[in-house]
Amino acid sequence: CGIVGYIGKKQAAPILLDGLSKLEYRGYDSAGMAIFDGKKINMAKATGRLKVLSELTHEGATLPGTVGIGHTRWATHGAPSDINAHPHFNEAGTIAVVHNGIIENYMKLKKKLLEKGYKFQSDTDTEVVAQLLDYYYTGNPLETITKVMHRVEGSYALGIIFAENPDVIYAVRKDSPLIVGRGEGENLIASDVPAILKYTRDVYFIENEEIARLSEEKIEFFNVDGESIEKECKHIEWDI
Ligand code: GLU
Repeated sequence: CGIVGYIGKKQAAPILLDGLSKLEYRGYDSAGMAIFDGKKINMAKATGRLKVLSELTHEGATLPGTVGIGHTRWATHGAPSDINAHPHFNEAGTIAVVHNGIIENYMKLKKKLLEKGYKFQSDTDTEVVAQLLDYYYTGNPLETITKVMHRVEGSYALGIIFAENPDVIYAVRKDSPLIVGRGEGENLIASDVPAILKYTRDVYFIENEEIARLSEEKIEFFNVDGESIEKECKHIEWDI
C-alpha cells in the first residue's frame, strides 16, 4: 500500500506510476490515480499489478494534467476489486481521496451519511472520508479537512484534491506514513522516500495529525486545528 502525489509543470500520471513502482515492496492488490485536467478530476483504477494500470492508461497518457494523486491498495475493508480500488470520490466527483490505513469508526459514519441521503459506491472504509469531506465542505478545504480529522478514528495517510481548488494537494496523516518532497517548481507527497528521490532530496516528515498543503511553488503545514506550523526540511543523503 502506497501513496504518491504530484503538483508541478510536468504530466503527473507518469510520475505517479513511477513513484508507485518504487513503493511496490510495500505490497498491494490494486492501484489507481486521480488527475486534474484543468477542468475536472479524471481517474483510472484497476485490480492487479501496476502494469495493468499503466497499460490501461497508456503509461498515463490517457490522464493528462499536472496535478494528481496515486495509490496502491492493500485491502482491509472491501475485497480487492476495481470498484474498491482508490481513489474514492464524493458523489459529484469533485473531491478525490487516496488512503492508506484503517478508518475504525467508518460503519458509524457511513450509517449517518446514508441516513442523510449519501450514496456509496464501494465497500471500503476510505469512501467514508470522501463523502464526509463532501458533507463538511464549506468552500474552505483546510477547514473541511480539520473537521473530518476530528470525526474519523483510526490510522490514515491521505492525499486529497478538490476540483474547486485544483492548484493544491492536501496531505494528512495519523499513524500511517507520509512525507512531502520539495522540488523546483514542483512538489510531491509519498508514503516513503524512494518514491520521490528521482525528483528531490529535500523532504519534510509529516507528523501525526499534521496537514500539508502543496502548490507548485509552496508547501505549508497546519495542525489539526488548522493553525499554521513551521517544519524543518531535511536533506536526504543516502541512495537506494
Ligand atoms: N482501508 C483501506 C481500504 O481497504 C486502505 C487500505 C490501504 O492502506 O491500502 O481500502
